[in-house]
Amino acid sequence: MTKVSSLGYPRLGENREWKKLIESYWARKISQEDLFAEAKQLRLAFLKKQADAGLDLIPVGDFSLYDQILDLSVQFNIIPKRFAKDENDIDLYFAIARGNKENVASSMKKWFNTNYHYILPEWSKQKPQLTNQRLLDLYVEAREVVGDKAKPVITGPITYVALSTGVEDFTAAVKSLLPLYRQIFTELVEAGASYIQVDEPIFATDEGADYLEAAKAVYAYFAKEVPQANLIFQTYFEALINAEVLSDLPVAAFGLDFVHGLEDNLAAVESGLFKDKEVFAGVVDGRNVWANDFVSTSQLLTSLQDKVGSLVIQPSCSLLHVPVTTNNETDLDPVLQKGLAFADEKLLEIKLLADELDGIDNPVYQEHIAQYDALQQADFRNVALENIDEVATRRSSDFAERHQVQQDKLKLPLLPTTTIGSFPQSQEIRRTRLSWKRGNIGDQAYTDFIKAEIERWIRIQEDLDLDVLVHGEFERVDMVEFFGQKLAGFTTTKLGWVQSYGSRAVKPPIIYGDVQHIQPLTVEETVYAQSLTDRPVKGMLTGPITITNWSFERTDIPRAQLFNQIGLAIKDEIKLLEDADIAIIQVDEAALREGLPLRKAKQKAYLDDAVHAFRIATSSVKDETQIHTHMCYSKFDEIIDSIRELDADVISIETSRSHGDIIESFETAVYPLGIGLGVYDIHSPRVPTKEEVVANIERPLRQLSKEQFWVNPDCGLKTRQEKETVAALEILVAATKEVREKLGN
Ligand code: GLN
Ligand code: ZN
Repeated sequence: MTKVSSLGYPRLGENREWKKLIESYWARKISQEDLFAEAKQLRLAFLKKQADAGLDLIPVGDFSLYDQILDLSVQFNIIPKRFAKDENDIDLYFAIARGNKENVASSMKKWFNTNYHYILPEWSKQKPQLTNQRLLDLYVEAREVVGDKAKPVITGPITYVALSTGVEDFTAAVKSLLPLYRQIFTELVEAGASYIQVDEPIFATDEGADYLEAAKAVYAYFAKEVPQANLIFQTYFEALINAEVLSDLPVAAFGLDFVHGLEDNLAAVESGLFKDKEVFAGVVDGRNVWANDFVSTSQLLTSLQDKVGSLVIQPSCSLLHVPVTTNNETDLDPVLQKGLAFADEKLLEIKLLADELDGIDNPVYQEHIAQYDALQQADFRNVALENIDEVATRRSSDFAERHQVQQDKLKLPLLPTTTIGSFPQSQEIRRTRLSWKRGNIGDQAYTDFIKAEIERWIRIQEDLDLDVLVHGEFERVDMVEFFGQKLAGFTTTKLGWVQSYGSRAVKPPIIYGDVQHIQPLTVEETVYAQSLTDRPVKGMLTGPITITNWSFERTDIPRAQLFNQIGLAIKDEIKLLEDADIAIIQVDEAALREGLPLRKAKQKAYLDDAVHAFRIATSSVKDETQIHTHMCYSKFDEIIDSIRELDADVISIETSRSHGDIIESFETAVYPLGIGLGVYDIHSPRVPTKEEVVANIERPLRQLSKEQFWVNPDCGLKTRQEKETVAALEILVAATKEVREKLGN
């Protein structure tokens, strides 16, 4: 019988029970005892569900009250020095994640190329020591429910240190953790653990190649010190790097991703590297919401079976990255609903695949294939789209020429001032939207309310004396969902929530068909705003790459094709705005960097595809139409060439916290187009001083020309309060005027 396993289960709960639980503890509505008791109920329910799904090995320790990496940091005593130790444990734990009155939180970082964020371990000469026996406790608890199917899961020492900050000596840091892992493993084995899953995803990235010697030393140490422990060396999100070296590690099994690292992992298996090893094969995508293609997966499994020592079937990664179940999505087209698989459905798929491999006939397996085929053939997937080859991917004039035309039309002062698009979404706005959604107020009343808010902010911007205005994005909850609701080919779910960080969950739209522009998306609000003022109002769109990266995308067509489809839709919207005399249009690409593949070898193709789609969206405009883009991150080193190739007339980026580094990548020679390096940090309610803003304008002007520089905050102002927003923008404008004067304007 082929065994089935899983790597992690969504903690959020079907109705986000987990989120509600944690937040009610934060609000002190429940006691610590209640928090622990209810968290335990959730954990046990998740275990039972997975056991009922037929898993032979069920992950334990993946559950967390905030983040699994923070769990380890606290267990290892890697606690930032600034946090006092006399607080009780759970409050200290939450304080590190969220900050408290005295101390700022630890930073969070994206978990590889996902939209999950972990809490960055901060090393500052602490001595690692075990402060609790968390994993053992959880394992003992789980055994009572699922017996020896329980499989402890822990992030491995090399990945843990590689993801940390403040590490002075990598090898020494890893070494200092080894006795701790040894103790954890020993206790687990004594308690009966048949396997221990050790997550080392750093070995699916290019960086992993730097740690081959470390891996050999670490896993030799474990083999010697805890020989009874059956460790699964688990990687995901890409293929195992340097498989010829790492496949020799003295571990019991290897967990490999045959979805996102299919080609290389398969090649490694075919070359015989795993012929005597146990392989946990990730064949069901843990990152997407689509039903598995059983025909090709069963073929893959058959061929793997012959080439490895023994085979266990599992998802490609933890199911943390997908929603819980499709059962609640009853409003969807039935063909679509049956073509989806969230966490629970994926567990079922794994079991069905194992049975099929074992020659057990199951009608549900055949039924699943029929549903999969029905989705592939559905008519929403076969729409004739505009002939892409006829669409311009190059502006008709080069930057210098069109810049002149734009300037003649717009007559902007030196160092033009603007904002990134959104203004505060006040309580009143959120309340009114909710009443409208619940049908308590009508469409007209809601539209009138939004218009009044637009007008109020146009006046505020005029009073502030900003040069390029925006309408404020009051009609949007989210910069992707808003477009998803209006473009054909997208749908939104009822309960398709996924954890983003802490208690924050997002509900990505699902791209299920060919994407098409079928109605104006932003014209009404933008044109209304422009009608109220003589100053230019900037149209505000989300770009094709960001829309794709923040949605659950189709996997049956190449990604590049999807980028292009959305690019075409955005092009159509830009045309409508242009025809309505909107002279400046911004196409946000907040998530372009995040989608960058983990492996260098795949990055160029991604960037080329991204640039192409952005240019499909933005190249068909007249010379006099000024295209802006915005990105909210500052690590541009690897992608600066592609950023330039976007050929946007103006780019605004987040830099207020990293001025020094970024300017280097944006020297005049390298970056010839218009550019606004955010002059203050919008992530904090603090109002900057004029001196700071002046300095943040003048510093980059040492390398960038004053003719190309724009002045703006570093991201949208949606999450800020009105009062601090206006105060900060007053400073921004005053500082700009001071610099203009110094420059003789
Ligand atoms: N235009 C968007 C806003 O201002 C951009 C948001 C973002 O970059 N994440 O809110
Ligand atoms: Zn931003």
